[in-house]
Amino acid sequence: MKLLEDRIRQDGTVLPGNVLKVDNFLNHQVDPQLMDQLGAEFARRFADAGITKILTVESSGIAPAVMTGLHLQVPVIFARKHKSLTLTDHLYTAKVFSYTKQVNNDISIDRRFLNPDDRVLIIDDFLANGQAVQGLLDIARTAQIEVAGVGVVIEKRFQKGHKMVIDAGIQLEALASIAAFENNTVTFAED
Ligand code: 5GP
Repeated sequence: MKLLEDRIRQDGTVLPGNVLKVDNFLNHQVDPQLMDQLGAEFARRFADAGITKILTVESSGIAPAVMTGLHLQVPVIFARKHKSLTLTDHLYTAKVFSYTKQVNNDISIDRRFLNPDDRVLIIDDFLANGQAVQGLLDIARTAQIEVAGVGVVIEKRFQKGHKMVIDAGIQLEALASIAAFENNTVTFAED
């Protein structure tokens, strides 16, 4: 999506560890108009997928997920991160290793919000090694619900997550695909 690529070129900073900082429109300050356009684009790409709900992880997935939910007219559930979980009977949980914080988080979703007849779309801000998406896939499997697709605002295609989602046979839509970071600049994938 050219609009997003232009914004990344303009405002993105490449940090050590293959981390792209985009905190003036996505990860800290949020640009609502841009989020609306991203949500519209996800909704267009998954229009025929029969989505009933959107799943994401707090906090940076919430803005694009909510905008997608608005355009698809379906509810949005964000998995919550907990430091320690004690009473978990009413929760679906999964372990996620955080790429940027390098710590393990338990993520959880209240069982009341997922039903066996749901068909969900997973939305997140970044796809790196695929840990966050895998955590949501684990929850979907436990809840016995179908995952119709994964939409990420930015994928770093050279990391493991892209192949993991494709190999799982799930439709993957990335609005910007980064092929490499070279000399602290971003190279986008051609397709
Ligand atoms: P994964 O679980 O796919 O390894 O990493 C995805 C998660 O880590 C995203 O939810 C995002 O919060 C964070 N993340 C991964 N790579 C980047 C990056 O390059 N920049 C930023 N800002 N966050 C990232």
